[in-house]
Amino acid sequence: MSQLNEFPHRPTEAITDLTALSGNFRSIKDHLGDSIQYMAVVKANAYGHGAVECSRQLEKDGVDWFAVALAEEAIELRDAGITKPILCLGGVWPGQAEILIRNNITPTMFNVETAELINSVAKELNVVVKVHVKIDTGMGRIGILPSELDSFFDRMTQLPYIKIDGLMTHFAAADDPEERDFTQEQLAVFKQAVELAASKGIAPTYIDAANSPGTFVYPESRLGMVRLGGILYDLTDDILPAGTNKPKLKPVLSLITRISQLKQVKKGSTLGYGRTYTAERDMIVAAVPIGYNDGYKRGLSNKAKSIVNRQYVNVVGRVSMDWTLLDVTDVSDVKLGEKVVLIGSDGDCKIRTEELSQMLGTISYEITCGLSSRITRKYI
Ligand SMILES: *Cc1c(COP(=O)(O)O)cnc(C)c1O
Repeated sequence: MSQLNEFPHRPTEAITDLTALSGNFRSIKDHLGDSIQYMAVVKANAYGHGAVECSRQLEKDGVDWFAVALAEEAIELRDAGITKPILCLGGVWPGQAEILIRNNITPTMFNVETAELINSVAKELNVVVKVHVKIDTGMGRIGILPSELDSFFDRMTQLPYIKIDGLMTHFAAADDPEERDFTQEQLAVFKQAVELAASKGIAPTYIDAANSPGTFVYPESRLGMVRLGGILYDLTDDILPAGTNKPKLKPVLSLITRISQLKQVKKGSTLGYGRTYTAERDMIVAAVPIGYNDGYKRGLSNKAKSIVNRQYVNVVGRVSMDWTLLDVTDVSDVKLGEKVVLIGSDGDCKIRTEELSQMLGTISYEITCGLSSRITRKYI
């Protein structure tokens, strides 16, 4: 056994609030109703929130399906006792098919070769494997192009150990109001593909198109099931256009650390690599044990805020690999070991992941997904 199992860790923690996650799912369901099914997208470790814990919570809360990107992620959920159907959005690589089938994981089909592979493994195991087919209606990423669907469906219907039980597509720009025509065209092309399938006797149980922005910006795209990622975690400001009618949600992730050193800094001193910050007055500077190796990005240098003692404080100087500096001069009664909130809330102060992503010119998903394994995980 590793000595680290019982070893007290550095107090830099990502805390996933499973009660908030659960509340968000309930709130979304109240908003959208019971007539559709709900697929929770928990790929990439549930967007960095902890796939196993989030999935256990959502399974209890009555989610219908899970989606992951990798076969490995699907197996991880089965190993953790998740029993609801799991759609594997990514490919099936050589050697993975049998274990996927044995774990009752539903693969997504986007080429003939994989379908043939699954069919042959399913034949050996003497089972019929249900698959979902991804159609590329304009994302230009994975999926069968509409022009190739006719022959694809014909080939699929010749594979007796495969049953197409789902048809899906994915929107490229449902979050962008200027792309309304394009998104509607994607939906129209998808509906034609569904009709083509029907004309060939393919009658899938699931027909789905909508991701989080699709679901809320284009109610007509909800069809039989919605595939929700970001909205479950309340990562919404950068994926839902302002003014979108959405349910009440709460942030799920907080990022905290504690003060490692407090230092009196004289006016005129410079702080950190590259001397990018010069003290304009005598200051008190706190060093906190988090840096870009933890996923607290260097681009936040001299830009981001965090919260100490229910007050906002500025990040000063460069964020380095393991350390970040904060100007705590104006914080009353600041102490070594004091809690620092980098994402989350304290009193009336709050910092949303979207504020950090905006400073970095990215989206909130990249921040939560980018929190490294060096950060301790906690669940409440
Ligand atoms: C990631 C993903 C989703 C979820 O997208 P959000 O915008 O986070 O809701 C849905 N469908 C597919 C195919 C995906 O890859």
